[in-house]
Amino acid sequence: MGQEIKRRNNNMGNFVLIRIVVGLLQANCYIYADQETKEAVIIDPGGNGKTIIENVEKRKLNPIAILNTHYHPDHTCANKDLKERFNIPLMIGEKDAVQLQFVYDAAMQIMIQCNPSPPADNLLREGDIIKIGCLSLKVIETPGHTKGGICFYDECNNILFSGDTLFLESIGRTDLPTGSDKELTHSLKKLFNLPLHTVVYTGHGDKTTLFHEQEHNPFIKDTLS
Ligand SMILES: [Zn+2]
Repeated sequence: MGQEIKRRNNNMGNFVLIRIVVGLLQANCYIYADQETKEAVIIDPGGNGKTIIENVEKRKLNPIAILNTHYHPDHTCANKDLKERFNIPLMIGEKDAVQLQFVYDAAMQIMIQCNPSPPADNLLREGDIIKIGCLSLKVIETPGHTKGGICFYDECNNILFSGDTLFLESIGRTDLPTGSDKELTHSLKKLFNLPLHTVVYTGHGDKTTLFHEQEHNPFIKDTLS
């Protein structure tokens, strides 16, 4: 079962956040829900569709969308399972939508036992807002790891879902198709304009804060200097 990592009471939208580590590449899938209305989004379902569905259903959550930070299979392999079970829109950055359809070559499918994703229903752009009950996630375009990579930011609760752009003391690789060093550097600078106490839920590994990364991430020291 997924680990329920945070539940907070304040006046800005009480939320439930569940992290489930999925697939061979151990990606983080997050379920982010409004505690009152039970509306939820599922971010980066990269595998283990059954487990994700069980986590949604046992908490009686009402999923309203599947969100992908980028097209890589380790973040999108269970899109099909969730779409079939819940019949909800699939959303991804507009510049990653095409790759979502073509990334699943036969070798990759065998290697990570991946179901090809259905096409996206909504293409996300900078500044788009996704409403989840009283919560809202703003889309921040962060190309570099992939051309259409995006982060999701809840300004009220100081939460950023960073996909594979920023990790605990590391950053996303840029050597895969559509990656770019230059673009990643620009995207990281953009993220560090957010408040430093922002908690960052990463695409792989443990959560962090922008402050911690500013102080301890060697790649960020270079980027911001
Ligand atoms: Zn990736």
